[in-house]
Amino acid sequence: IEDEQDLPRPPPPDFQANNRPKSGSKTPLTPNDVHYGKTLGEGSFSRVVLGTHRRTGQQYAVKIIDKNYLIRMKKKETALAEKNALVQLGAGHPGIVRLYLSYQDAYSLYFVLDYAPNGELQTLLTRLGSLCLPCVRHYTAQIIDAIDYVHQKHVIHRDLKPENLLLDEDFRLKLTDFGTSKVLDPSGEQRKSTFVGTPQYMCPELLESSTTGPSSDLWALGCIIFRMITGRFAFNGLSDYLTMQKIKQMDYSFPEGVDGHAKDLIQKLLVPNPSERLGAGTSGSNNDIQALRSHPFLVSIKWDTLWTDEVPARE
Ligand code: ATP
Repeated sequence: IEDEQDLPRPPPPDFQANNRPKSGSKTPLTPNDVHYGKTLGEGSFSRVVLGTHRRTGQQYAVKIIDKNYLIRMKKKETALAEKNALVQLGAGHPGIVRLYLSYQDAYSLYFVLDYAPNGELQTLLTRLGSLCLPCVRHYTAQIIDAIDYVHQKHVIHRDLKPENLLLDEDFRLKLTDFGTSKVLDPSGEQRKSTFVGTPQYMCPELLESSTTGPSSDLWALGCIIFRMITGRFAFNGLSDYLTMQKIKQMDYSFPEGVDGHAKDLIQKLLVPNPSERLGAGTSGSNNDIQALRSHPFLVSIKWDTLWTDEVPARE
């Protein structure tokens, strides 16, 4: 489908909608306010198009999910999980893609989201290989800040990876794709999980005992820092099976020349026991989230202005 002519008309605004206005705006966003434009990308059961507010010109990414396909592929829960998590997370964090409005018609579900014009961190990594150390440090801090917020809202993402970290107009990160996320009961304990994520970022507890918890996101963080700094996967085999074997055996090594503090941080995140990962401890313990934020690799980070400071040059 090339342009807006091919899209079903937006439904009248009497559908169940979650239409919180953009901050500062007085009138709630309605489906008829959004003009559909070019396709931004495609997922396995969705298409994302550029949405423009007819009056204000504000741009959005509109994720359009094919209902039939969802039902056929038994993926209804995925769309539901995504919506539930985004509603739970609300507008409270600059590093998380915000859901402005959701609605449906006979064919599709529509999620009106923050638009991230600079694409995925993954694409940047493919283009540049690795990133410069100050940028790795800045992005590491942004990911920590975003996942801390997500966990405080009792959500675990469970599929953290550079493909799910989008870049806004100023190259700040925005965490997206909560389709495999889980809204936890407040105890935050490890849960049985049937979810299968991207092999390279999968945590050992998922492979060994099919469980995931908030600390699974910290494992993925370790894999992402490794990737940003070295340009390679921490764990990668010739097949998914062999990648998973490497994870179970903790079979990874650093190339020459990796910054010592970054290496130490990665080693403290890539720990098989989920409760021993840096950042996983209860508040006040020596491996709580504050200990993660205070790691020597991040000592120069100004957490108060993390989302307004300029992102260091990527290369
Ligand atoms: P899959 O569902 O197979 O995991 P996916 O998560 O990439 O794939 P979508 O979330 O539907 O699927 O996104 C499809 C593409 O649309 C993405 O690869 C990205 O390039 C683009 N995209 C998604 N969300 C946004 C956004 N908020 N702003 C800009 N582009 C986006």
